[in-house]
Amino acid sequence: MSSTEPINLLGMDSPALAELVGQWGCKPFRAKQLMRWMHQRNEDSFDRMTDLARDFRQQLSERCSIQAPEVSTEQRSSDGTRKWLFDVGKNNAVETVFIPEDDRGTLCISSQAGCTVACPFCSTGYQGFNRNLTTAEIIGQLWYARRALQADLDAARIGQSLEPLAEPSRVITNVVMMGMGEPLLNYDQVLGALRLMLDDNAYGLSRRRVTVSTSGVVPMMDRLARDCPVALAVSLHAPNDALRDRLVPLNRKHPLAELLAACNRYLEHAPRDFITFEYIMLDGVNDSDQHARELITIAEQVRCKFNLIPFNPFPQSGLKRSPASRVRLFAQRLMDAGIVTTVRKTRGDDIAAACGQLAGDVKDRTRINERLPDRAVIEIKQERG
Ligand code: SAH
Ligand code: SF4
Repeated sequence: MSSTEPINLLGMDSPALAELVGQWGCKPFRAKQLMRWMHQRNEDSFDRMTDLARDFRQQLSERCSIQAPEVSTEQRSSDGTRKWLFDVGKNNAVETVFIPEDDRGTLCISSQAGCTVACPFCSTGYQGFNRNLTTAEIIGQLWYARRALQADLDAARIGQSLEPLAEPSRVITNVVMMGMGEPLLNYDQVLGALRLMLDDNAYGLSRRRVTVSTSGVVPMMDRLARDCPVALAVSLHAPNDALRDRLVPLNRKHPLAELLAACNRYLEHAPRDFITFEYIMLDGVNDSDQHARELITIAEQVRCKFNLIPFNPFPQSGLKRSPASRVRLFAQRLMDAGIVTTVRKTRGDDIAAACGQLAGDVKDRTRINERLPDRAVIEIKQERG
């Protein structure tokens, strides 16, 4: 008989796992045990799942695997920011970034290799679309990051002559779907991953600590509200349709009025009582006082907070970042109107060199650490090293 591909258990939710083990005559609680081993103890060897019956382990080893995507490079900053580049085949790679802060640790995850929305300020959009990630590839980013961070923690404890922690610590307290791709255009696979993030037998994160960022896929925002209402960030980037049609081409399909109405519908189910509007600051494009006034009108229609993101340039975009003084003034205009506004810090220009090196080696050049963290990242392992 020809051997079949092992079933990757990493992307399976509780009902799917229970069904699988049920077919082998096992009780549903076996599925729960398996989930805890995989997602809470980051175990990928069935042999080490010692409280499972030997026969069951044997069966699992023969038919199944626990497989995260392969890491091709790993970077880390002096302050603990970590970045992994995952190889998802056919010369495509996606990035995952961990950003530690005093009171939380945020992991930024990718949902697609590339993106069809093609926003002109985004290097992912510029690269085009390759494919949707599977639930296993999406959750695999969290699985891998958690394992790597845990291993570091254990190594540090051993260095201090302390025992490794019996239970994994919660270094990752928040997950944001703000990496590569448009999560709501890969709805089913993302939904599977979100459910695992929230599952008490898996990652047990609260809905408030999981954020989906979308460019405004209106019908899927409604579905998410019904299926799994986590915190929502909406990439607004422009205060009127004429400009948004250019900056977020999906706006031609779901214009602002439709998007804002969807935000209000979402708020009826959301775990937080506001939507976060992300607004990229592009010099001379969307950063005038008039734009700020138009945004204030929008904020009167939806309970929201604003997160201003200074644009991180990449060679082909032809766009420029708004000067810091303009970003400050723009933020002040919004705050004077009573809107809670934060400005995402940008990282130093010295980082671009390290990112540029990586870009030469992979087809996809998305650099989510240019969008997210604000700290220096030092390359520790060369691509194809
Ligand atoms: N597709 C989703 C999520 C991924 S993009 C979305 O668009 O919301 C996550 C965030 O990074 C978005 O707000 C996006 O606008 C921002 N972003 C993309 N390219 C950027 C760049 N070059 N500089 C700064 N932020 C960028
Ligand atoms: Fe896609 Fe988001 Fe980039 Fe736009 S900003 S191209 S939606 S990943």
